[in-house]
Amino acid sequence: MISNYAKDLKLHNSLTGKKEKFLPIDKNNVGMYVCGPTVYNNAHLGNCRTFISFDLIYRYLIHLGYNVRYVRNLTDVGHLENDDDNGEDKVSKKARLENIEPMEVVQKYTLDFHNTLKKLNTIPPSIEPSATGHIIEQIESIKQILESGFAYEKNGSVYFDILKFNKSKTYGKLSGRKIEEMLNQSRSLDGSSDKKNPQDFALWKKAEKNHIMFWDSPWGKGFPGWHLECTSMSKKYLGNYFDIHGGGIDLKFPHHDCEIAQSEAIDGNNPAKFWMHTNMLTLNGKKMSKSIENFILPNEVFNGNNEILSKSFSPNVVKFFIYQAHYRSVLDLSNDALLASEKGFKKLMSGFVLISQLDHNDKASDFDVDVWISKCYSKMNDDFNTPMLIAELFDCIKFINNVNINAKNLNTNDKEKLITTFNNLLFNVLGFNEEVEDSKKSNSSDELISLLIKIRNQARSNKDFKLSDQIRDDLLKIGVQLNDEQNSSSYKLI
Ligand code: AMP
Ligand code: ZN
Repeated sequence: MISNYAKDLKLHNSLTGKKEKFLPIDKNNVGMYVCGPTVYNNAHLGNCRTFISFDLIYRYLIHLGYNVRYVRNLTDVGHLENDDDNGEDKVSKKARLENIEPMEVVQKYTLDFHNTLKKLNTIPPSIEPSATGHIIEQIESIKQILESGFAYEKNGSVYFDILKFNKSKTYGKLSGRKIEEMLNQSRSLDGSSDKKNPQDFALWKKAEKNHIMFWDSPWGKGFPGWHLECTSMSKKYLGNYFDIHGGGIDLKFPHHDCEIAQSEAIDGNNPAKFWMHTNMLTLNGKKMSKSIENFILPNEVFNGNNEILSKSFSPNVVKFFIYQAHYRSVLDLSNDALLASEKGFKKLMSGFVLISQLDHNDKASDFDVDVWISKCYSKMNDDFNTPMLIAELFDCIKFINNVNINAKNLNTNDKEKLITTFNNLLFNVLGFNEEVEDSKKSNSSDELISLLIKIRNQARSNKDFKLSDQIRDDLLKIGVQLNDEQNSSSYKLI
């Protein structure tokens, strides 16, 4: 059954730049396609932000009662080092550097990706198709684009003809880039290029002599262009027109604009009703990215094994940190921000645990629980406004704490409603791991470690170095590494 709240859901559509009412194209069925990872290295925390944000969207749509088919691909061929169809294929390059098969690279990093997203308690997509598993479909799409007249073949490669397309349609709808600006900004082609114009993009690339991943095609041996897989696979599993297409904001151009052009060339459809883009996770104010060596891996955060971190942080805390910003805002990662999130998450969970222990009676509550519940849903319905939802949750926790000290009253019925709503929002929608007991345990182990550090600091100031060294060494034996600073010590779990 579809929830009453569903009718008020609004999503920000990158295509129109506006928040629009969300109603599925096909009754209660929602089709959502999200561009997945290029599996040539470990996903960093920035990648995870995007997948956590779409997990939240998936979870909320399911929670509202929709049947959701969520398709998220694996890019295992065709993503070249540069967006302008230059450079080596990312997977092939890694295979060459590690001296292993490309499919070993793909297997290794797909496993890592799945393990990481599992730790972050995200729900796997309904279908996770890979580019190499859909070469036939991609060749079919190229034939259709050639038939429509918007592509040309040259020396065993096939390119999308942007200028021709732009005569009758509009290229760059999503990013808002004008073709004239693109023409002015782009470098002119060198003599070796088979493209008619620098903006044209590859649908099929001829495999050069040393290229290790290639397939037979009507145009000779080669491999598909990066933008094509998402068009072919979304059409195969969701049809020519589906509800939501998502990805990080860095994919708007050229990837998503190229997807729209390909789709319009094939069947005249912009493939998705809603285009949704998550903003970037930054580190030191710069986009988190492997290519500029500015990244942190999720496991480093879970183990505290990175020089910017004073300690480890759980996957729940990482998610809480991510939800404290709206998915369309830039979010900067730092040790201080994670420490603050940890504090906030613990407070939230302690408040939740407290509800079931509260006294209750038949008198009126001093808090309008029904109004509060509808406020929580209205925040989620407002384009998944998690920071505002968290503010509502804390508003209620304040009341809960007051009930706990007998300063406010809670009636039996409202108490049940609070438990149900918190359960739904915390675990079904926000997708925190239900390890409340564990979080209590980790609370107390944090406190114990802090107590030992305090005793050790006293020993150090009394010049009892035997005791202070013993505490340091014994903590290390159980995986707690102390880091002595001038007047304090921090620790991390190793
Ligand atoms: P890739 O594996 O590079 O294709 O990226 C996978 C997904 O992560 C894409 O949707 C990207 O837009 C997204 N992404 C990459 N870097 C970041 C970042 N720093 N913050 C948020 N999302 C990102
Ligand atoms: Zn894509």
